[in-house]
Amino acid sequence: MNILVINCGSSSLKYQLINSDTEQWIAKGLCERIGIDGSQIVYQKAGGDKEVTVSPMPDHTEAIRLVLEALTNDKTGAIGSLSEIDAVGHRVVHGGEKFSSSTVITPEVIEAIKECNDLAPLHNPANLIGIDACAKLMPGVPMVAVFDTAFHQTMPAEAYMYGLPYSYYEKYKIRRYGFHGTSHSFVSKKMAEDMGKKPEDLKLIICHLGNGASVSAVKNGKCVDTSMGLTPLEGLIMGTRSGDIDPAIMEFIAHKENKSIDEVMTLLNKKSGVYGLSGDLSSDFRDLEDAYNKGNEKAIIAVKTFSYRVAKYVGAYTAAMNGVDGIAFTAGVGENCGLVRKLVCEYLGYLGVKLDDAANSKRGEDTVISTPDSKVCVMFIPTNEELAIARETLALTK
Ligand code: AMP
Repeated sequence: MNILVINCGSSSLKYQLINSDTEQWIAKGLCERIGIDGSQIVYQKAGGDKEVTVSPMPDHTEAIRLVLEALTNDKTGAIGSLSEIDAVGHRVVHGGEKFSSSTVITPEVIEAIKECNDLAPLHNPANLIGIDACAKLMPGVPMVAVFDTAFHQTMPAEAYMYGLPYSYYEKYKIRRYGFHGTSHSFVSKKMAEDMGKKPEDLKLIICHLGNGASVSAVKNGKCVDTSMGLTPLEGLIMGTRSGDIDPAIMEFIAHKENKSIDEVMTLLNKKSGVYGLSGDLSSDFRDLEDAYNKGNEKAIIAVKTFSYRVAKYVGAYTAAMNGVDGIAFTAGVGENCGLVRKLVCEYLGYLGVKLDDAANSKRGEDTVISTPDSKVCVMFIPTNEELAIARETLALTK
């Protein structure tokens, strides 16, 4: 089967066409600046070069129309016609408490996703537009929603409740939801497979360290805690997001700088994290590592503070699970930045973690970076959210 995976952001759209038999992508790319001047589509067929075409995209429907046109293009298309697309898998950011697993999209499911819009006002409406556009352009093709929050729905109440009046949970469903669930699920399963064990027999900690970053505790194959909360702002220090801070800082900054709540939220989401900590140097760890190695003091603070926060969560989740068998690093920073992995592991000697420096300097496929006598297996494992979405879509539509 050919499965089209669609990941709609507020002004972007990533897509991949995956052959579910080989689990390889046939074509992939992204649409950028949707609804903004200068929109463009990037398209790449397997074995071919990237093609960039500037084309106006006033909305997501037009973006999806251009994606389908590129996929079926006479000269460079990966497929002959739309009838070769058997199903579509949509990444949906927030499934609230309604969705604890992926689901085939029906009119009722669309209504239920709309009811979660409040919880992800930037993302869910974009996801719904993508669903609507595909339904219009490919009528009759089955579609599946794969939720970022679903994997975390197994958390117990003590992990997802906040110390707030209970009525806010009842009235507004304010609680921890967690995000990056597709990645945490994919990587935890892959780690169990790589360790030659069943997920049910393992206590794993997954560190998804990308531009957005989160940690999860996965006990016996089920998520028991995760660092992102009601929104993706909580937890680790991220590229530009603050992660955990004293909530009173918000009022303090608002008064000192005469900022509105919206302005403070923008500051915490877009100007903080390692970007803010490094004195606005960069949110990209390639730049930060470079500056770190050159002795740039703020870059050193940013990288060290980021790594320390990850290590604190690993400690907390080891306590939550009463032990840990494996720790996996994934996503852009987790897969590529040996420096961060080393700094995190330096805090974990008390767990019997021993890092193999030579293995830690590698890149590429799943790699064990702990020594054979390390009490905990530590690995980096490339995540593949698109493949995970394609697998879920296949399982529900074949
Ligand atoms: P993601 O959100 O998973 O796509 O991760 C993107 C981030 O990964 C970038 O902003 C960088 O901070 C980081 N990254 C990507 N490649 C490298 C690399 N080779 N070395 C260090 N960090 C990297």
